[in-house]
Amino acid sequence: MALIKTKGLIIKEIKYNDTDKILTLLSADYGKISVYAKNSRKGGNRSSYGTQILTYGEYVLFRGRESYILNSCDVLANFYELSSDIELFTYAAHLIDMAEDACNGPSSAKDAVKALLYGLNALKKKRNPKLISSALAIKITQIMGYPPHVSSCAVCNTRTMEQIHFGFKKCGFLCEKCSSSEKDSIYIENGLAKAILFVLLSEDSGIFSFELSDRLLNKFFNLALKYIEERMDRRYRKLDFLEEFDYNTVLSDSK
Ligand SMILES: [Zn+2]
Repeated sequence: MALIKTKGLIIKEIKYNDTDKILTLLSADYGKISVYAKNSRKGGNRSSYGTQILTYGEYVLFRGRESYILNSCDVLANFYELSSDIELFTYAAHLIDMAEDACNGPSSAKDAVKALLYGLNALKKKRNPKLISSALAIKITQIMGYPPHVSSCAVCNTRTMEQIHFGFKKCGFLCEKCSSSEKDSIYIENGLAKAILFVLLSEDSGIFSFELSDRLLNKFFNLALKYIEERMDRRYRKLDFLEEFDYNTVLSDSK
């Protein structure tokens, strides 16, 4: 068995036997991998160190033919405090959900893990969670090689656009004329078009350093979620939980 070293974020821990855990690690070098952590459920010992969900660390692993076994770890950062706030924790789960899909292959994992860590950090710093998840959604599509086309009209290629529309099927900006024959296109204000451009051109924590009015942010949120769902061909449902949660609060308040 070869010994390898990789930095990564623990996104899932499953109890196994009385003493062990099976971890899911988003590794910058190997993508999403399963890691067997022996004796990690015995509290207070060296083996449990760094095996908790939302830990980012440098992990030393034995690499077998089909599995990885934890040897040791060096914790570099953690995001545990997000788990004490139901809204932030749900948003963190949503960010992880989107980044996880980009970690299925090692080629995009490095950038996806990096963007995710900056996103979790921005959540920790109490930046607007809707803005963080919208920006990360657009960044993930770019990392996967499906960024929205923004340099001209995606159909006729004109750069002269008085009114910018966004076409989901055509994957990007559309001029007014071309948008009229695209059923699923929507008009987007200049502020929203600029936000999309900003995210595509920014790196690291810069991805999340812009402001939008509540109205434009709601529109950006819906656009970014629909865009990533259509490109990845799946639904991201983690945030649905917050709606159910609110609903239950309302029910208990009305008693
Ligand atoms: Zn056009």
